[in-house]
Amino acid sequence: MTKSYGFDTLQIHAGATPDPATGARQVPIYQTTAYVFRDADHAAALFNLQEVGYIYSRLTNPTVAALGERIAALEGGVGAVCCSSGHAAQIMALFPLMQPGCNVVASSRLYGGTIQQFSNTIRKFGWSAKFVDFDDLAALEAAVDDNTRAIFCESIANPGGYITDLDAVAAVANRVGLPLIVDNTSATPWLCRPIEHGATLVVHSTTKYLTGNGTVTGGAVVDSGKFDWSASGKFPSLSAPEPAYHGLKFHEALGSMAFTFHSIAIGLRDLGMTMNPQGAHYTLMGIETLSLRMARHVENAQKVAEWLEKDPRVEFVTYAGLPSSPYHHRVARICPRGAGALFTVAIKGGYEACVRMVSALELFSHVANLGDTRSLVIHSASTTHRQLSPEARAKAGAGDNVLRLSIGIEDAADIIADLDQALARATA
Ligand SMILES: *Cc1c(COP(=O)(O)O)cnc(C)c1O
Repeated sequence: MTKSYGFDTLQIHAGATPDPATGARQVPIYQTTAYVFRDADHAAALFNLQEVGYIYSRLTNPTVAALGERIAALEGGVGAVCCSSGHAAQIMALFPLMQPGCNVVASSRLYGGTIQQFSNTIRKFGWSAKFVDFDDLAALEAAVDDNTRAIFCESIANPGGYITDLDAVAAVANRVGLPLIVDNTSATPWLCRPIEHGATLVVHSTTKYLTGNGTVTGGAVVDSGKFDWSASGKFPSLSAPEPAYHGLKFHEALGSMAFTFHSIAIGLRDLGMTMNPQGAHYTLMGIETLSLRMARHVENAQKVAEWLEKDPRVEFVTYAGLPSSPYHHRVARICPRGAGALFTVAIKGGYEACVRMVSALELFSHVANLGDTRSLVIHSASTTHRQLSPEARAKAGAGDNVLRLSIGIEDAADIIADLDQALARATA
């Protein structure tokens, strides 16, 4: 697919051609586990990565591959690997880079589940994370040590209306010679293209806006193809003979596709966090309308945030689309089409008022999800962030008096009317 097509064309066509066997115009759901080899030589070539093709659906599947190619095209990367969830994508992004004893320097403003995964679960692999305020670039650079293998942040951070200065963070990553991994879930490539700001890898929870209809969990890791894995000797899995793949030197053999091939040939093969073709199909359907949906999400979020900020029952709104946000000045540079559709609102009356408000909302669904066509609400302090300490919650922008709203693509007037009646009942 030629790179000169615009975003709206790529979101429909990238990665897909009419099915060569049947002419089917839509990408078929290749519901198969395995693929017949033409002959023994063909099988050997596939296993040696000398020829690209399909072996077994834990590794690759044509429906899933179409989605991977499409996401890579939208992000401006050279390749992508799809996986079973956003959290799987994060492990898949770190896996080729890390060894036991290595660490990742991560922003303190991340999705609550990511803070949990990085604080505790990755320790079982012998990895660790150091959390730093990424507005403090000196602290970020100081946190990098000899065992650091990646720098990790979100473009628009979930949930506090924070926009990362990707250019500044990438400059630090560049100076210390480490890959920058950006979780672009909240922004989507329509609002922000992290690779253009210096990201090495982009991770997604495709569960959210990319699918957009709340049907499946999925994830993806996109490689920019720009990082030199051999320069520092810090990434032997990619630069040195890899014992897990009969001594193949991935970077030397596969160049800019080293990371993607490693992720498939070893990551998916041995970790097995594979996206299934049915799931890929739902995400392919969703992604066709990504730009249209995101435009409405952002337009609605702006209207709702402006309305809430003026309301006397509200303490504050953290939406970078509002001039009152300390991150408003970054919108034009990092996400010029808008600050996303996810923000928090602090309600007068604290924890109790928030709990009442969540029950009183009728159009909004109270769910642990975001990025659906529907408007969603969650009280993070009592749900997604409840396992964090109060300090970590406050730091992540999920204080007791705070509700997180994911603004859908319904009529803005209906969304506002629902918030109005629920605020009345919550703060009565
Ligand atoms: C949801 C989410 C994740 C995790 O994705 P899953 O698909 O739920 O595993 C990671 N990062 C962000 C920003 C998210 O919103």
